[in-house]
Amino acid sequence: MGLIDSHAHLTRGPLASDVAGALDRAVAAGVEHIICIGVDLADARCVIALAQSDRRVSAGVGIHPHEAGRVNETEWGEWPELIRLPVVVAVGEMGLDYHYDFADRGAQRQVFERQLAMASAVDKPIVIHCRDAHSDTLAVLKSAGYAGKRVVFHCYTGTAAEAAEIADLGWRTSFTGIVTFKNSAEIATMATGYPVDHLMIETDSPYLSPEPVRHVRPNEPAHLAHTARFLAARRRVDFEAFAQQTAANTRAFYGLPG
Ligand SMILES: [Zn+2]
Repeated sequence: MGLIDSHAHLTRGPLASDVAGALDRAVAAGVEHIICIGVDLADARCVIALAQSDRRVSAGVGIHPHEAGRVNETEWGEWPELIRLPVVVAVGEMGLDYHYDFADRGAQRQVFERQLAMASAVDKPIVIHCRDAHSDTLAVLKSAGYAGKRVVFHCYTGTAAEAAEIADLGWRTSFTGIVTFKNSAEIATMATGYPVDHLMIETDSPYLSPEPVRHVRPNEPAHLAHTARFLAARRRVDFEAFAQQTAANTRAFYGLPG
């Protein structure tokens, strides 16, 4: 069994012009499945079409906090049908980003809350984007009744104390190539000590190329192998076993077949 890239953006940005190539290179590098994430309604449609036409891809769709200021009222009517589709294995990414503040914080919160209400009608995991907004993100999730449900804080960049709080609520954190960066010792330590049966890894392509290809742009799912090798070595486990375990964790969390 190969690796699974649990979070990548293939349909928007620099990889969109060569999706087939990126998928072929992923498989050649041992990455057998990719959860492709859509960040707004138009992107969600592209991600769903890709997942419906290529078995190597599953879809996660939602409204990214960066897009929260651009949501129009009529599109809310279209989401419920999309998130019910079988190729959609998760709702999101959604959440709060107070680091970039590309959208008004009030709008971010409203769009986040509305997606959680919408997602509660389907029993699918929630993918959270949280930057410098830990306590507000937890407050929104808790008041929407998501404690103990399947929630993952993707591309985890918070502190160890915040990660412990997330774990106490029954939620996961997943790790990108940031763990390989020389200036990210705290995140690497967290990923190294993370429970073996819960650990999930991702590229967040096209961003965050891991070492030793950090200079290569764009990042792509094939590069997940570098992050996996780095963490297997840090955890002192066999690479094959590590790949199988993290893939099995991802399949279980997202309810993927196989
Ligand atoms: Zn993302």
